Amino acid sequence: MPTVPTVPTAPAPASALATLAVVSARGAQRAAGGHPWIFRSDLVRAPAGPAGVVVVHDGRGRPVGSALWSPRSEIALRLLDRADACIDRTWWTDRIARAVSRRAGIAPEATAFRLVHGEADGCPSLVCDRYGDWLVVQLLSAGLEACRTDIVRALTDTVRPAGILARHDVGARRREGLGSDVEVLAGEVPRAIRVVEHGVAYLAAPWDGQKTGAFLDQRENRALVGELARGRALDCFSYHGSFALHLARRAARVTALDSSGPALTRARANAALNDATNIDFLEEDAFAFLKRADHARERYDTIVLDPPAFAKARAAVPAALRGYKEINLRAMRLLAPLGLLYTASCSFHVSRARFLDMLGEAAADSGRRLALRRVLGQAADHPEILTIPETGYIKGALIEALD
Ligand code: SAH
Repeated sequence: MPTVPTVPTAPAPASALATLAVVSARGAQRAAGGHPWIFRSDLVRAPAGPAGVVVVHDGRGRPVGSALWSPRSEIALRLLDRADACIDRTWWTDRIARAVSRRAGIAPEATAFRLVHGEADGCPSLVCDRYGDWLVVQLLSAGLEACRTDIVRALTDTVRPAGILARHDVGARRREGLGSDVEVLAGEVPRAIRVVEHGVAYLAAPWDGQKTGAFLDQRENRALVGELARGRALDCFSYHGSFALHLARRAARVTALDSSGPALTRARANAALNDATNIDFLEEDAFAFLKRADHARERYDTIVLDPPAFAKARAAVPAALRGYKEINLRAMRLLAPLGLLYTASCSFHVSRARFLDMLGEAAADSGRRLALRRVLGQAADHPEILTIPETGYIKGALIEALD
């Protein structure tokens, strides 16, 4: 039978319009400055077609790049590559492989870490965390969702996981008009996964734990504070005991406090996994506990404050700063002489500068002489790109009481 040669055809004008976005000079300039987002307000002409990969031009027809197009989002376009790049399974495999190889050095220290940190890894709106043999992913934009098949195949080919779980129960997806199912995309995924982090074991909860199952972003800070811990220790906002387990290796006694009973139930199980018998678990509001301990003139040699984001929106920043100041002031007063406080904020809207200012104000009110020993950020597998502020959100400080 004669074979019919397939001749590539130029796209018809109608389909070109479906996948062409034209952006304002301001949008193009933002892209040139290293930020992959182009907002709806900078769209001169939206692609006529559905969510997916499109080509972006500026008003003079010059190519800006190829991008993910999200028709319902304020972030209309997320740039991926040059305009002439072919965004297919091979492209995703290459991008993901680069992100994975960058993490090679982390694997000896921990079996759970972030493999793909969205925009920071050139994979806008894609989060992929590794928990041992399993992956937990979040496809956080409509444009990315259109690439789901290629991405799942690329992850499978690159990592060969035993299973991939989608944790799509997040607000970002609802804002993009996407479903919020928690579902298996490949293989099978257990309810709990035992992971090891710098010698400490804990159970991550990929299906229903916070974030993708654990707070991986503080991993290096947990290890650091664990090395320095001693004496009587306090881990406020403990969740499943992540800091407390590290503190317990060197401190004499640790109080792990959280307002969530289920989190503390898992914290107890995690303590048992590590044969840690020097942790007391306390289900209480941290504000109330710290106030009471301050009035009772309690003293701790090591304190960790790792609260949830107090400012989820910009408008909430002033109230959040009051909350941060309150707990930090109390914690500073609770420090024994030469005691150490590790304090953090994961509110994106509270900048590092404002966080440090707040600590200065709390220190001034505390009546203590406090040294700033280290300013810390998120773990290396959550890279914070200088030109993309949204990739960074954790601020941490290590403070020592000198009096
Ligand atoms: N330090 C943890 C993560 C903490 S997440 C880790 O490294 O894994 C924040 C925790 O604070 C959650 O477990 C939440 O239940 C708890 N929390 C929120 N508000 C609280 C409050 N007012 N008092 C005590 N715990 C609180």
